[in-house]
Amino acid sequence: MPFETTILMSSSRIKFGPGATREVGYDMRQFGARRVLVVTDPNLAGSEAVAIALAALRAEGLDAVLYDRVRVEPTDASFKEAIRFATEGRFDGYVAVGGGSVIDTAKAANLYATYPADFLTYVNAPIGQGQPVPGRLKPLIAIPTTAGTGSETTGVAIFDLLERHVKTGIAHNMLRPDLGIIDPNNTITLPRMVAACTGWDVLCHAVESLTALPYNQRPAPDNPGLRPAYQGANPISDVWAAKAIEMVSANIVRVLQDPEDDEARSQMLLAAAFAGIGFGNAGVHLPHGMSYPVSGGVRNYVAEGYPADRPLVPHGMAVILNAPAVFRFTAPADPGRHLHAARLMGADTSGVRPEDAGELLAATVVDLMRRTGMPNGLGAVGYTADDVEMLVAGTLPQHRVTKLSPRPASPDDLRQMFLASLKLW
Ligand SMILES: [Zn+2]
Repeated sequence: MPFETTILMSSSRIKFGPGATREVGYDMRQFGARRVLVVTDPNLAGSEAVAIALAALRAEGLDAVLYDRVRVEPTDASFKEAIRFATEGRFDGYVAVGGGSVIDTAKAANLYATYPADFLTYVNAPIGQGQPVPGRLKPLIAIPTTAGTGSETTGVAIFDLLERHVKTGIAHNMLRPDLGIIDPNNTITLPRMVAACTGWDVLCHAVESLTALPYNQRPAPDNPGLRPAYQGANPISDVWAAKAIEMVSANIVRVLQDPEDDEARSQMLLAAAFAGIGFGNAGVHLPHGMSYPVSGGVRNYVAEGYPADRPLVPHGMAVILNAPAVFRFTAPADPGRHLHAARLMGADTSGVRPEDAGELLAATVVDLMRRTGMPNGLGAVGYTADDVEMLVAGTLPQHRVTKLSPRPASPDDLRQMFLASLKLW
């Protein structure tokens, strides 16, 4: 079996600066759109960011319609509602103003309104059929309001498939927004726990793409069209991931202690885009793969700062709870990369033996978790040892990401990692 020899570096165009949201009308007109759907969630519908975006579009003579029914942590049902609205409205441009949930919903609405199909057609195999997107979509401009998913730079849309209780997604280069407008003015009002969880998501994107299976240890695709968006760690994504790890580690505590710290907030938002460029090309692995059943199987945990009407383990929290156990498991595959990640987070790695790389990275992560108010393991969000079989079963179908683990994980390995994640300190 020949191994991969080629990397494709893809990214959205990025515009960065305080107040840059005001330019969205100009940008959308450059893309040739006339009738634009502005996608957001109920919490943001009355926000300044949405008001500025709508005004900027209308000032350029564009017809702008607001859709504000995105669900935080979207589901197939909430995607379908947005798809229906987008299909009936016959829009030729999309603007997403919000967090990853909003941007992902706009990607799905754009996809199915442009290329109508049964919902599972484009959803990742083996849960869906995993068919490639047939061609270009309508222009999409993403304006993130949380420094989290980096969704403004990636071709991935994640949602909960309700009937199967799993998180899955749609991944294709064509889903990538045409432009990300990163405007630090838009993140001012983030609740503390939301800022912490989204920051952890960024850090995990970066550490996972740095430690993922290297691209040249993946089988070569039969033709270039079959090369996955998630290609494994590679020399280009490494640069973006490493920088993002440094930026988050240096700023996450600052931004929680003082939400008015413009410099720290701006760095976190930029770090999310840097990490997005890294993982959008390299991919993520076990912490993300194992997080999906943790989010999907939630019973009654309600996170402070998130909608109180239903139980929810926020995405970034679900990811970080398993990460220490994962890094202990994956470090033997490449101790040098795990030590590099710990060093970028600020750990002293001098004299540390390669066999201790996983422990050092795990300890560095746990230390920062405690300083950012994360729960003490899966037990603290309502899971017990009796749930581990369900969590393993929910991780196994996440091939798209788990196969990028630098060390293959058997069901028993996953079991041991979930057990070790019940209590972290
Ligand atoms: Zn994530």
